[in-house]
Amino acid sequence: MLLGNQGFGHAVRIRDTPGMTSSSAAPLVPLLGSLHALQVPIPYPMKTVTVLIDAPARGPLTLIDCALDTPEARAAIEDGLAQLGRHWSDIDRLIVTHHHPDHYGLAGVIEERSGARVQMLDVEIGRGERYWHMLSEWLPGHRKHMRDHGLPEASVEGIRAENPRVHPASRVEPLREGQSVSLAGHEWEVLWLPGHADGHLGLWNEEESLLIAGDAILPRISPNIGLYAYTRPDPLGDYLQTLGKLEALNPRRAVVGHHGPVMEGVQARARELRGHHHERLDFIGAEARREGRSAYDLSLAMFPRDLDEGGRRFALAETLAHLEHLRLLGQLARTWDEGAQVWRYHA
Ligand SMILES: [Zn+2]
Ligand SMILES: [Zn+2]
Repeated sequence: MLLGNQGFGHAVRIRDTPGMTSSSAAPLVPLLGSLHALQVPIPYPMKTVTVLIDAPARGPLTLIDCALDTPEARAAIEDGLAQLGRHWSDIDRLIVTHHHPDHYGLAGVIEERSGARVQMLDVEIGRGERYWHMLSEWLPGHRKHMRDHGLPEASVEGIRAENPRVHPASRVEPLREGQSVSLAGHEWEVLWLPGHADGHLGLWNEEESLLIAGDAILPRISPNIGLYAYTRPDPLGDYLQTLGKLEALNPRRAVVGHHGPVMEGVQARARELRGHHHERLDFIGAEARREGRSAYDLSLAMFPRDLDEGGRRFALAETLAHLEHLRLLGQLARTWDEGAQVWRYHA
């Protein structure tokens, strides 16, 4: 995360995504009663992010996720609200699944324009969301982390913290795992689905077997699981547990952040993603045992194709998440190389 203007972590794909044509007037997709999904344009390869609008006849108007601040996104959300006879000023509550710019960018604008309450999972407020308020303080640590794992200096210099299309909220209220939230006249359980982000939130409605999943699971791409300077120590371990949770939950439908708005077959997809990460673990473990190297050099083996600077940093963070998972399991070790000033992972 925190790579400035780069898309947050969907550079790593299992399959290639065919180009999507963007349409200007996005229709609202009805999900459940007063709850609708809107595909809002974002300037990233995924093209759109899912924004949910719950506009009940009585009760609070709620948005879930809010896209980056671009004129196109503002217009799309305004249009979605208008289709329900509503306007910005009617928004009472904004729930954000995780702090990545494509889900959180407009939070501060919505808070200011409508006086809406902004809510996120407590874990995310203390970590990812806090990042947007700590940009200058956290940047040196972030650069050091990447440098210590072998990222070339030119690319370290390229790390920018600020993103002009993200407006942090001044106050975010915590939601807690297991808590209940009302939406569309139903009760939803707050889930903690860490891995892609430390405090990634899900909302689960058992009666309808419907999960609001954000980027915790995606149909076409593997959500980026990266280790950064300030993330929990084992994001891949967290994510493998999240996949287990999703598999056990076995929702009939999930509303997803990208390439949706709705996907089915979550259980099978969770198994497929677990298999994908285990293949990666086998591969990178064998590479490190064959020849000890920095995480950056190992990322060139795991992601050999041409990537731009931002893509290479995502590849490094994803490789590191796999290496640290193996190290915490006792299957790899790492040693500080005083001469080269990098950590080397080895048998
Ligand atoms: Zn994300
Ligand atoms: Zn996303």
